[in-house]
Amino acid sequence: MVGNPPMSTADQPKESLAEALQRVHPELDAVREAATEPVYLVGGAVRDLLLGLGRADIDLVVEGDAAALASRLGADVVSHERFATAKVSLDGHVVDIASARAESYPHPGALPVVEPASGLEADLARRDFTINAMAIPLRGEPGPIDPHGGRADLETGLLRVLHPGSFVDDPTRALRAARYASRFDFELERETAALLRAADLSTVSADRRDAELLRLAGEAEAPRAFSLLDEWGLVELREGGAELSASVASLLGSDPWRELVPRDRALFAAALGSPAGEEALAEARPRSPSEAAALAAGRDPLELLLARALGGVWLDRYLDEWRHVVLEIDGEALIAAGVPQGPAIGRGLDEALRRKLDGKISGREQELRVALEVARSGDGVA
Ligand code: ATP
Repeated sequence: MVGNPPMSTADQPKESLAEALQRVHPELDAVREAATEPVYLVGGAVRDLLLGLGRADIDLVVEGDAAALASRLGADVVSHERFATAKVSLDGHVVDIASARAESYPHPGALPVVEPASGLEADLARRDFTINAMAIPLRGEPGPIDPHGGRADLETGLLRVLHPGSFVDDPTRALRAARYASRFDFELERETAALLRAADLSTVSADRRDAELLRLAGEAEAPRAFSLLDEWGLVELREGGAELSASVASLLGSDPWRELVPRDRALFAAALGSPAGEEALAEARPRSPSEAAALAAGRDPLELLLARALGGVWLDRYLDEWRHVVLEIDGEALIAAGVPQGPAIGRGLDEALRRKLDGKISGREQELRVALEVARSGDGVA
């Protein structure tokens, strides 16, 4: 069967795997024609095809020379000799091609040492979970090749590592587990759960850990993934971090906060960041628009967003209205009226803006009158 229940309705004929592959990734026909050695679709794209999901990033493994296959495919080849990988663009889709390889870990958490492998099996054996360790041959019978029982785990909704040392070799796989568990609503298989709770992220560099967490933060179900990490005792969240990331996610989906800050950065900060100025901002109770503007102007948009998510509801109006309020006049107008260059000009303009924000004046003429009064008075107060 191809596809989970939501994708295949009872009265529609079941699509074969070959048909699904052709429909979702027609650009792979070109690879089929260009390949002289066995080549396979591997990893997430196989998983997503079996789940009946749409297009995924394409990873291919060739039992041979990846760069040679890439150059036969023509356009836009970027090849990395050391890792025997190449990137090509087919009909506008990026396709990663790798020569089959095996990996070993010189010590826990280290970057793997990559060696060429003669066949696909070794390449699948280095992968993180059974559901990511399947392949579909692009020629011949369209598999899937499934030496680790990934298809059964996909059907029961289980994340299972391929061997007991998996999280010791690479503890970032524990972070990946939270990403997949939340995305697909999967459970950890029993032994995998025990191994995961013993995972030690301290052997991994902060850069690699944060890159994986940032990827997790960009997922639709990131708040759930953060609570899993918390529950599994793998990562220490900021207090209320999972809930805060959920509030931030919902703000980013609605006006005026929509897309103010990249989602991954915002959710990462909400779940894991150390509290900074946002807490005081959230607790502030400005009594006028000008007070609100004085508190919020010039702050990092991320800080505003977090403060709003922490309860600073007044920030909605700041973002929507008050931050857009500008004067019709500028310093030139004051100079033209005879005010000498200097700090008095700034004081005059600031006061005019404050009064405009608070609805006490409007129009160019009134702005100019207030700004001149203040600029001309010695102490800057009208
Ligand atoms: P996504 O849908 O999130 O892109 P993906 O499965 O394509 O998921 P990638 O991170 O692009 O994930 O990795 C591609 C494949 O490489 C995975 O499916 C998995 O087989 C393998 N892989 C990636 N990272 C690891 C890792 N840390 N350890 C073992 N295998 C990995």
